[in-house]
Formats: sequence, structure tokens, C-alpha cells
Amino acid sequence: MTTHAPGPAAFTPDLQAMIADLEQLTLIESPSSDPVAVGRVMDVVEGWARDLGATTRALPGGTRTFDFGLDPAAGQPLLVLTHADTVWPTGTLDRMPFRQDGERLYGPGTYDMKAGIVSLFHALRAFQASGQWPAGGVSVLLSPDEETGSHSSRAHIEAAAHAARAALVVEPPVSDSHNLKVGRKGTGTFTLTFEGVASHAGNRPELGASAITAAAEAVLALNALARPEIGTTLSVGLIQGGSAVNVIPAHAQLDVDLRISTLSEAERVIRDVNALTPSDPRVTLTVSGGLNRPPFEQTPGAARLFGQAQAIARDLGFEIGGEIVGGGSDGNFTAPITPTLDGLGAPGDGAHASHEHVRLDRWPDHVRLLHRLMLDA
Ligand SMILES: [Zn+2]
Repeated sequence: MTTHAPGPAAFTPDLQAMIADLEQLTLIESPSSDPVAVGRVMDVVEGWARDLGATTRALPGGTRTFDFGLDPAAGQPLLVLTHADTVWPTGTLDRMPFRQDGERLYGPGTYDMKAGIVSLFHALRAFQASGQWPAGGVSVLLSPDEETGSHSSRAHIEAAAHAARAALVVEPPVSDSHNLKVGRKGTGTFTLTFEGVASHAGNRPELGASAITAAAEAVLALNALARPEIGTTLSVGLIQGGSAVNVIPAHAQLDVDLRISTLSEAERVIRDVNALTPSDPRVTLTVSGGLNRPPFEQTPGAARLFGQAQAIARDLGFEIGGEIVGGGSDGNFTAPITPTLDGLGAPGDGAHASHEHVRLDRWPDHVRLLHRLMLDA
């Protein structure tokens, strides 16, 4: 593709068009659990990509990719990660409608991350209008299941990262700020299943082996594995067990959430969880699960990318910071492979919460930042 004036500094995002595009995506509710609904959002985005001349692909599991001006002779492409699913069940719009209130635009999935998709396409349209595209082209990956752990898209994301010179993630910036996400904790889950021996709690309690007692001991042992001072936290979020109040319980189950900042901590916790042993030898414990997303740790390449973003923002007239956050994203999968910067979507607040919204006064600045960074990165 050719390079000519006007330069990137001339780009002024069209906020009204951005709002209209966001409304179109938000009014199609797309919970991760409903692939057909997620596909409807993807169809709209794919239409936008085709209008810009993209090569589009549908990959096994529902992931789609849109390639713009790939030119191996000019270098590896820039990878941009997006997701079409939201945490909101169908029908949420009835009680959480798409609405504007002053500088805030509310609606399920707006901030996380349908507005990020809109940001990206307004940057791409600016490349089309100016004829100036990032060297090597842009490869966009649209995931159907980011909110539930990217089980169907992870392999595609990692393959795309290996082919890319850097990965930009248009998840939202840190809540109520201009700050980007320069690191994320790794996330994991465990399921611990206890099988004991049932017995009548009144007549023959000594013949029973309580799975609930073993599970209760394990809750405390799991809590003791946390090292919050270095970012390792565990939470037993679900507990279930027993069959009746007068029966020594033969079955119990714990579901555990794990967050870690380093891979070595993940290895320690996984080893210790698998070594847990009930004090009553008649109770058996089966552990499943482990690390889902590896930690997004800072690398020199990622730090350089953030430095570029910071300089561009300053040039555009605003200040950004970088924060390490607890929640995971698909950036966790690319960070060990290629320099990654996250939080390049639309500013706002309330991800996964009823006050989810985008800040209209700040959004155009972030689109200009994304546009310039894509050219410079
Ligand atoms: Zn998201």
C-alpha cells in the first residue's frame, strides 16, 4: 500500500459515527454461552473488515481473523486482539439499556470491549482514507470466548502471536483513567473432589468418613498457600457437598480461583495443591484444573511499546500511565511470545457491572493514540 499525505496527525475521529457503530454492536447481545449470538456480532465486524478490503477467515471453534495489507516483504504484521463476547446474558438490555447520559455512554459490553472494536475500526478506516498503513500490515483476531477463558481461541491467538511483531489488545484502559495495562496476573482454577464414606450420622457415625470435613481442612490449607505480598491469591469460591443432614457426607467439592504474578509462583501453587492429602485416609481427593492464563509479565519489548504509547499520548496532549492489573485477558497468551500492550480500547468504567459505560469525552483521544501507535509500533 502507498504512503502519502495527510499524515497521522491529521486524523480526527468522528465521535458520532463511533457512537452509532457502538450502538449497532451493543444492541446485538452476545453472551459467551451463545455462539450464534456471538456470531451475529462477528458478522457485523466482518462486514466492516470486508469494506476495508480485508482477507477474512473463520477458524475452528468460532474465532475469526481479518488481515489488512499483509506484506511479508515489509515485515511481520501487527496483531490486534479483540473479543465479541460479553459477560451479559441475553435480555440484559431490558434493564440496562444502551443510553447516553452526558459524557457517559452506558450499556452491557460497551466498555468491555465492543467500544474497543469500534476504536480499532475507526483507526483502520483512517489508514484506508490516508492510504498510510502500518508496515507489514495488520492482523485482527476476534475471539468468541474471551470472557470464559478463551478455550476455543487460545491456540489461534498463540499462533498469531508467533507471526506478529507485536500485539495490541483493545481491552479497555484501567477503570476511570487513561492508564494502559502493562501487565496482568495469570489466572487459574482448580476443582477438588472429595470422596468419603457415607454412614448414618446417628446409628453408625464411626463407619463414615466425612468428605465435608476433609474439604473444610483443605479450604484452610489452600488459604495458607496464598502470598498476597507477591501477588499470589487463592479463593475458594464455591463449595458443595453432602446428601442429607443425617448422613455422614460421602461427597464434597471445592472450586478455587488462583491469581499469580509469576510463572514460578504458579508452579509452586500447582505442586502444593496436587500434594494436598486428607487427614482421614478413607477420603480420596482428586484435583483437576490448573493454570488457565499465564501471567503477563513485563519484558523489554513490552516496556518499549508502552514507552512509545506514552510519548504519543503526550504528543497528543494527554498523560497515560501503566498499571499491572489482576484480571486476565488474551494479552496473557501473547505476552510471553511477542511484545504486548493492553488497555488500548475505550476509557470508561464498570466492566462486568451494572454501571458499565464508556467516557465520550476521553474516547477520541484513545482512538488517536491507537491509530498513531499502530503506525509507529
Ligand atoms: Zn474484555
